[in-house]
Amino acid sequence: MQQPLYVLTESTQRTSGTDARRSNVAAGRAVASAVRTTLGPRGMDKLLVDSSGGVVVTNDGATILREMDIEHPAAQMLVEVAETQESEVGDGTTTAAVLAGELLARAEGLLDDDVHATAVVEGYHEALRLALDAVDGLLVEGEVDRDALVTVAETAMTGKGTGDVATGVLAEIVVDAVLQVADDGRRVDRDDIRVFTRTGASAAATELVRGVVFEEEPAADNMPRSVEDATVAVLDMKLDVRSGEVDTEYTITSVEQLDAAISAEDAERRGIAETLSEAGVDVVFSSKEISDPVAAYLADAGILAFSNVKTSEARAFARATGARRLGTLDGIESGDLGTAASVRVERHGGDDVTFLDGSDDSRTVTLYVRGSTDHVVDETERAIDDALGVVVAAHADGEIVPGAGAVEIAIADRLRSGANAVTGRKSLAVEAFADAVDAIPRTLAENAGLDPIDALVDLRARHDREGVAGIVIDGPSVQITDPRDDRVVDPAAVKREALESATEAATMILRIDDVIAAN
Ligand code: ADP
Ligand code: MG
Repeated sequence: MQQPLYVLTESTQRTSGTDARRSNVAAGRAVASAVRTTLGPRGMDKLLVDSSGGVVVTNDGATILREMDIEHPAAQMLVEVAETQESEVGDGTTTAAVLAGELLARAEGLLDDDVHATAVVEGYHEALRLALDAVDGLLVEGEVDRDALVTVAETAMTGKGTGDVATGVLAEIVVDAVLQVADDGRRVDRDDIRVFTRTGASAAATELVRGVVFEEEPAADNMPRSVEDATVAVLDMKLDVRSGEVDTEYTITSVEQLDAAISAEDAERRGIAETLSEAGVDVVFSSKEISDPVAAYLADAGILAFSNVKTSEARAFARATGARRLGTLDGIESGDLGTAASVRVERHGGDDVTFLDGSDDSRTVTLYVRGSTDHVVDETERAIDDALGVVVAAHADGEIVPGAGAVEIAIADRLRSGANAVTGRKSLAVEAFADAVDAIPRTLAENAGLDPIDALVDLRARHDREGVAGIVIDGPSVQITDPRDDRVVDPAAVKREALESATEAATMILRIDDVIAAN
């Protein structure tokens, strides 16, 4: 009798071949179908409840997938697609997930027809190349100026629960924010755009502060609460008697000596306030502590000071005012200091909120996001986040394409005509890729209440005639027309990233023929 040979522990679960593939494809499709109803301006929202009862209402693909707590490893890969999309270009997460799901679904049909997985994978890569070509062919001509950026921001925010009025206001704010902090190479460091949220006003009351909004209170109550034309010092040092590198020990033998020691310390504390005051400083931010006695002297000198500010804030104060971050007051000079148009402590919703309005060339901005409730503020913040992502992307490479499914129709068209040139069974995969891309306009149509088949037929006809056609949704009206005329445009980078990351995830899942899970 031959002994059974155990390579894996008994509790290990293993599925191979067709079973593994089917389970992976099904999991991927399930993820895609979970988000597809949220696509586009008429997309619906999801209400998600986490294990501790927290509620999130959102339309944002990446947020939905993140909150869903997905366990299946293949499905997890699609979640990663959405996350990559979010971190790379900030928008297009639903598009990427839907596309990946469709690529899997179409591939399964081919595999069932005995096309080998390798041929499908190769065909998909070939198709990706053609699809990227098609994106290049559809770039909107002309410079991507401020107005174009506003349209990009509006397109990203339509249907995100911010309302039409707010969307217009927010789009302008987002574009101004990006233009304020972009460097000469049109690059933006996202750390320079801060978001500060507070309930108690409508989303349309959201404003752009060319500086920093923060929650710290002044270090002493009797400090001024508002300073105009402020000279600002940003310090990374404790403001108190120097404790010294070596332990000093006083031997005190008389009351006089004690008094002398105390007044020496007192003089040092007063000296700190004097040094700052003589340097002309009106406002001090320190990432370390400011002791109460020093704060009292600063208050006496009419200086507004904030202690223990966060490191990220200290950076922002320096970027907003042009101040240098100092670790010592020795030799402090005017070149180390920054300027701010104003620093004001205001009472908002029962808390002190401080506004630092930087100089005109402030290198940091804050979007002060308002909304009537926490849910509204959160969803507004997500919409703004998407809009920031697209505006940054569109500004950086100056490339935008018509939205509303127009790019996808063009890609599918390009793939179908290009499939003939692809040899062998790979051409079937290229056609399957075209069908998968069609899912985007089809879903937009479905979510807008149109018959998806009719809509696709109309779209293709118009695309053939005019070269550009999308399903343009404007309030209650839905029309097959040129999206550029209705200011519906997406950054080319978002489309490219969605195509690339969806292809990558789908082909990665298709190459798997064995799932071995330790228990
Ligand atoms: P994603 O997470 O992929 O960004 P969205 O729900 O934001 O998903 O939908 C984006 C899609 O909606 C894009 O294809 C975009 O072109 C399209 N879109 C945006 N505004 C409109 C509009 N007014 N009419 C038609 N389509 C639009
Ligand atoms: Mg979007």
